[in-house]
Amino acid sequence: MKFEFSDKIKGLKPSVIREILKNMADPTIISFAGGSPAVESFPIEAISRYSNELLSKEPLSVLQYSITEGYPPLRESAAEFANSTWVIKKETDDLIITSGSQQILDFTAKCLCNEGDLVVSEEFAFLGALNAFKSYGAKLVSVTNDATGSVDITMLEQIFSAEQKPKFFYVIPNFQNPTGRTMPLEKRKAVYELSVKYGVPILEDDPYGQIRFNGQDVPPIKTFDTEGAVIYAGSLSKIMCPGFRVAYAIGAKEILSQMVIAKQGCDVHSNIWAQRVCHEILTKEDMVKHISKLQVIYKQKSDLMVSEMEKCFSDKVTYDKPDGGMFIWVTMPKGVDVLAFIQEAMTQKVALVPGVAFATDENVACQSFRMNFSTPSNENIVKGVGILGELTKKYCD
Ligand code: PMP
Repeated sequence: MKFEFSDKIKGLKPSVIREILKNMADPTIISFAGGSPAVESFPIEAISRYSNELLSKEPLSVLQYSITEGYPPLRESAAEFANSTWVIKKETDDLIITSGSQQILDFTAKCLCNEGDLVVSEEFAFLGALNAFKSYGAKLVSVTNDATGSVDITMLEQIFSAEQKPKFFYVIPNFQNPTGRTMPLEKRKAVYELSVKYGVPILEDDPYGQIRFNGQDVPPIKTFDTEGAVIYAGSLSKIMCPGFRVAYAIGAKEILSQMVIAKQGCDVHSNIWAQRVCHEILTKEDMVKHISKLQVIYKQKSDLMVSEMEKCFSDKVTYDKPDGGMFIWVTMPKGVDVLAFIQEAMTQKVALVPGVAFATDENVACQSFRMNFSTPSNENIVKGVGILGELTKKYCD
């Protein structure tokens, strides 16, 4: 059979990261290319205990069809969890459970975008989101990220005030993927003010917010939201486990009720077994202790990677020491062929993702690459950074 594929699917590029991960079955490859959480952070004992309890005491309730909006007690416990540091979910907001926060990104575009509509995104952003937006025919508009973790506010205002008003602005303010940077408070406020002034909703994607291991938390944009302008995407993937595919969308009832209709036609509801286990863990386990344990794991790995980079990398290469999340964004001097560098690293069995893979504007030049520290072992961090260090000297010095 010859399939005639739609223009929409033909317009998407396969996730470079997923393609790289296909090669990861080779145990001799040291991967700094992934974006998965550290496996030692998964609460495996609690997951297995609550799973067994639920299956033995009330098997039908975890195996039967369930409600599209999510398991009602989890909608409460997820709201309580989201509001444990800041008031993210206001009285006027609703919360629904989704299959990963990827689904929130997809549904936002599905609910808001017609063919040719504009979606604004940071210059470099999560490829899974960009592909989801494009799959609904949205055209992406890039707003420059700067080294402080912010976007260019003047440029954002120009984009918001243009004749064709964008449908929404996608932003990852905490430990951004791919740059690892965090947007300062005053810039978050400025972004929110522009959103209200021009009537452009914000899709705030925050899967890494809890993984802060240095410095002070910065309130999410959603905490300033008095106008129902922000759709907040929270996820349990990085603090519980990604295989559960449990996440939560917080936003105005008007938009979330449309997402529920989208979900009915997509997967009916998120995995009820996983939702039930998440609810048990959120309400019965010490989440503060669990998250502090996780922060210790990530800090140790990040510190190790940074100290090895300081030791081994050419002085001409620049990067920031992360305060949280999973990534380090590394920039090579102008004139260095970054793709050749990455290819040579791969021949020496070290995998990286080129920054250009995350570009909102596919024609942009990029001297950076992303390094992940959450998945490799300590031994591989030392070995892999050593190999890259020699290569940075070869390419830059
Ligand atoms: N947003 C960002 C910025 C991500 O990096 C990811 C995946 N790592 C997601 C959303 C999707 O996460 P999930 O669907 O597992 O919640």
